[in-house]
Amino acid sequence: MNNAELWQSTLGQIELSISKANFGTWFKNTTILSIDDKEHVVIGVPNGFAKEWLENKYHTYILDALRVFRPQVAGLSCVIYTPNTSKRQIEGAQTKEASTDASQKPAPNPSQKQPYHQKQPLRSTLNEKYLFSNYIVGENNELAKAACHAVCENLGKIYNPLFIYGGVGLGKTHLLQAMGNAVLKKDSEKHVYYISSEKFTNDLINSIRNHTIDDFKKTYQKIDLLIIDDVQFLSGKEKTQQEFFYIFNNLYQINKQIVISSDRPPKSIATLEERLRSRFEGGMIVDVIKPDLETRVAILHAKAQERNFALDDEVVRYIAENIKNNVRELEGALNRVMAICDLSQKKPSIETAQNALGDIIASGRKRTVQTSDVIGVISEHYDVNNEELLSKGRKREVVKPRQIAMYLLRTELNLSYPGIGEHFGGRDHTTALHAYEKIARTMKDDERLRDEIEVLKEKIYDI
Ligand code: ADP
Ligand code: MG
Repeated sequence: MNNAELWQSTLGQIELSISKANFGTWFKNTTILSIDDKEHVVIGVPNGFAKEWLENKYHTYILDALRVFRPQVAGLSCVIYTPNTSKRQIEGAQTKEASTDASQKPAPNPSQKQPYHQKQPLRSTLNEKYLFSNYIVGENNELAKAACHAVCENLGKIYNPLFIYGGVGLGKTHLLQAMGNAVLKKDSEKHVYYISSEKFTNDLINSIRNHTIDDFKKTYQKIDLLIIDDVQFLSGKEKTQQEFFYIFNNLYQINKQIVISSDRPPKSIATLEERLRSRFEGGMIVDVIKPDLETRVAILHAKAQERNFALDDEVVRYIAENIKNNVRELEGALNRVMAICDLSQKKPSIETAQNALGDIIASGRKRTVQTSDVIGVISEHYDVNNEELLSKGRKREVVKPRQIAMYLLRTELNLSYPGIGEHFGGRDHTTALHAYEKIARTMKDDERLRDEIEVLKEKIYDI
């Protein structure tokens, strides 16, 4: 199998495991440039964004897929490459900005481009079912709700940017979308744009590929309310952050409103560019936490009523007492009870609820946390792959996550130092001891690290 065939087969394999949009965005115009005698594969990619994403996010996917056809593959890296660049240019291109790359390509035929002013403004992707009126407020989210409300009434004038953070399924997206809907209801001429940070990146890359990056940026200038959901996904994507910073600043300077959500506070987003972090911290930061029992009961009543489903208080209480972690799960549990009652034509009773939720409740009980849970959470949180985390490699971006993993294995699982060393490529127990002590010592003076560890623990126990 030659390199071209190997890459074709590998792409076929990768295509099966990621979404079509992501596949198209990140793998188009990629190729294997070389495989050296140490089985290190060099992949040519069209720009710096693709390089970052392939090396960070898709690293493991690519390696796994390559190894299906060539098991001896040892590692991979990406270089920026266009088919007619010479070898010298390829090497030079590695240090260039992606936007510069785009400008080096031949200018597109202007007749094919619509003049900017004729372009449609960005279409809003709001879901009408998310409203303030069906958002139940409890102690856990009242500040966030109040801040969102205030922002809607005073776009760009108070709290800018507004930064909302909290764990999964706690209602961040609902709140953001409700804001967008409320602003449009008041004034349908306003340009409201809701986008996830992943889609933002995809759009950005496509605009670079299609030579429409200037239009892309100009279109953003028209927005009155820009809502970026799940901004933690920008972590580690330096080039995307640079473009985002540019757009952010432009809007901010003309007093346009920006609202951002994330699963953690700005200070805990690893590898967030300092100037972006300080911009985020310069506005208003609010959190949403888990709802208490009373709020969970209120949410269940509201959701059941929305669907015209009659539920006794004791059934509602049973569900609310047993499903505590997030509202999405709470909704899921309620849907399950309703479905079972519909199918069996039975009135919902405690017994039906018990039967319907038996599995969920049993599996939701705090089970003992495993080593793999800790490793999984760390690699997801810091966007490093398992293999690298567990290896002996000394790349700067994995050293800290690895030390934190060792620390948590000690504090949460009570593993022995030799046992921990064993998990990390058969290291000596002194390495594990050193890592534990380093993190414990640093935490004493470093509030940011303390918060980070708290977020990680929450994730580990929430799995
Ligand atoms: P997040 O974005 O924080 O992961 P979502 O906004 O997607 O969470 O919420 C998950 C589900 O729970 C959605 O269907 C949402 O409507 C619902 N939900 C969350 N919080 C509330 C609330 N306070 N009142 C009513 N529904 C809620
Ligand atoms: Mg969300």
